Amino acid sequence: MKWIFDLTFEQLKEEITAAGIKKFTAAQIFQWLYEKNIQDINAWSNIGKTTHAALAKQYDTTLNKIIAKKEDHAGAKKILFQLSDGNRIESVLISEKDHYTFCISTQVGCALNCRFCATGRMGFKRNLSPGEILSQVLCLQKEIPGYTGKLNIVLMGMGEPLLNYENLKLALEIITSEKGIGISPRNITLSTAGILEKIRRFEKDFPRVKISFSLNAPENVLREALMPISRKEKLPDILEYFKATAADRKHRITFEYVLIKGVNDSLDHARLTSNLLRGIPCKINLIPFNPNGSIGFETPDPGDVEIFSDYLHSKGYTVITRWSKGRDIKSACGQLAAEE
Ligand code: SF4
Repeated sequence: MKWIFDLTFEQLKEEITAAGIKKFTAAQIFQWLYEKNIQDINAWSNIGKTTHAALAKQYDTTLNKIIAKKEDHAGAKKILFQLSDGNRIESVLISEKDHYTFCISTQVGCALNCRFCATGRMGFKRNLSPGEILSQVLCLQKEIPGYTGKLNIVLMGMGEPLLNYENLKLALEIITSEKGIGISPRNITLSTAGILEKIRRFEKDFPRVKISFSLNAPENVLREALMPISRKEKLPDILEYFKATAADRKHRITFEYVLIKGVNDSLDHARLTSNLLRGIPCKINLIPFNPNGSIGFETPDPGDVEIFSDYLHSKGYTVITRWSKGRDIKSACGQLAAEE
């Protein structure tokens, strides 16, 4: 039996036509699965009972299994899923003032091994399929029944999204399509540690999706120590690309900077960061490191965070410090899965 969420609209249409079902049924199925978010085949009232039976024989329409939910004091809810092969991933639902944000995973574990990240410690297990990526959105929507307001999606959970490019692309096509979940690409942000060739390609494929770059250090030597990917993907090359393409981009790049006590949180680091990003239309998210017993880093002093932030402000940058929800999300990505 096939898992229906891994099929594109065209694939589904082709398969059901070959099985003797009218091809317009594909649009009805997509509407039930994605727009109405109802996966019980027997509830698909505009499709006949004989077709129900044929579809039930051919397709598995059950979503990923939720095995744990945890809410933090600031209203972020982490959801732990068990996949069909027993692997586990997490998503996070964040309640903001006037909207919700869904933080979605793209891989089981991660190969990039950033030193401050719990997911990196797990190592890489496998890529998520298109359906495993997009069905996280459906599951999180079920956590807020009846809500029809603004939704943001951040591809910032477990894994480096650009290292699972083809599956991510298929998932985003259904997430953003009017036939699918119908979320505007402008409300989606891809967070990356920086794979330059893939960033170029992604910006061509999805020009309206926002890019968030995980900076974390203002020079390549320190960045290499924190993020081994920097040995291959050099910081100056990536920043040069952001500068050279700034005029073609409709949004500002977000630079994420996990502040770690005594490592990258000094005023000198702030000065270097300011000089480094000069000329790139951007926002800076400062994320004080979220302590984790198995990672030997510490949370910076609030005073040092303020000095860092004030300096960048004084140089004209838009700076947001994420002490609460953001901190739980990014610097602890993978933590729930790792704990479980
Ligand atoms: S921070 Fe992101 S890219 Fe780095 S190891 Fe964690 S999940 Fe992977």
